[in-house]
Amino acid sequence: MSRIDLRSDTVTKPTDGMRRAMAEAEVGDDQYGEDITTNRLQERVAALLGKEAAIFVPSGTMGNQIALKMLTRPGDDVIVGQETHLVWHEAGAGAINSGVQFTAIGQGGCFTATEFVEACKPAWNSVMPPTSLVWIENTHNRGGGVVFPQGEILTILEAARARGIRSFCDGARLFNVAAISNQSLAELAAPFDAVSICLSKGLGCPIGSIVAGSREDMSRARRIRRMFGGVMRQSGILAAAGHYALDHHVSRLPEDHANARLIAERLAGSRGIELDLGIVQSNIVLFRLAPSVPDAAAVVARAQEEGVLVNAFAPRTVRAVTHLNVSTEECRRGADILARVVGG
Ligand SMILES: *Cc1c(COP(=O)(O)O)cnc(C)c1O
Repeated sequence: MSRIDLRSDTVTKPTDGMRRAMAEAEVGDDQYGEDITTNRLQERVAALLGKEAAIFVPSGTMGNQIALKMLTRPGDDVIVGQETHLVWHEAGAGAINSGVQFTAIGQGGCFTATEFVEACKPAWNSVMPPTSLVWIENTHNRGGGVVFPQGEILTILEAARARGIRSFCDGARLFNVAAISNQSLAELAAPFDAVSICLSKGLGCPIGSIVAGSREDMSRARRIRRMFGGVMRQSGILAAAGHYALDHHVSRLPEDHANARLIAERLAGSRGIELDLGIVQSNIVLFRLAPSVPDAAAVVARAQEEGVLVNAFAPRTVRAVTHLNVSTEECRRGADILARVVGG
């Protein structure tokens, strides 16, 4: 029996076409700026995001850490939504690499301009840590794949600019936002000083993320990437997968969203599952387990015995994610098994 792996959109394996593109990539030493395939990918993604420059990095976490260091000084205050990847999933790196503190505001990963303004601390105050950065995650992973409303982003970042506060978009899944919202990546990224995207999530690459921003910021980012050990050599092998994904895997993202919707609608009606269909907007399905049924660890273990892999996100919260290696039929079967495992 083949497993239905809904743990994450990072579990995808490169397709035959992608592997061929990787094998045939033209490469050089990227530290010397000689990897043509990497250079082209950086230029291509910078253009897609409407930014002057971009750098290729090994992981989304490294991209976030580079951006955080680039945009802050030790002792600064960074305003984030609840349960950001930056604070919850990066092993405490922000405290070590950048020495900043975080103020989490809002609900479910999103926040309003009013909440933002109330949390801002002044730049020159003998008591308070200066707020120097606002960080928005879009879509929001632990919020269940919700899209951060673009109108609110514009108001928040206007208030940030007025206070000299810089801005970053953790757009690990920004391609999913573009697929849902009829807005281009450039429109979504425009209000931000810098933005990151992951190639290794819904786009199906084995490795790679990109950070984009102004030419000046990216030249600082390049130095920090070196500092963090993130400079690669013949990285065109990996960048070729990125080009292939942009050519072939962007247009299919709506399939993942439809499959997530299908899973969510099947689960929303079943015993012991509390699921808010309103937050199922992209390729993530987050649901809570009622007190009357087993907890997340037990559900994950039982589902695994039946060939369905999902993640325990909190003691009574389970996450399922759709991606290019699960078909609609597998999602239908996976949802039936999950409903049975939880409801008995
Ligand atoms: C996956 C993810 C990242 C990057 O994580 P890596 O494991 O380093 O690829 C960053 N931000 C968000 C919101 C993510 O979901």
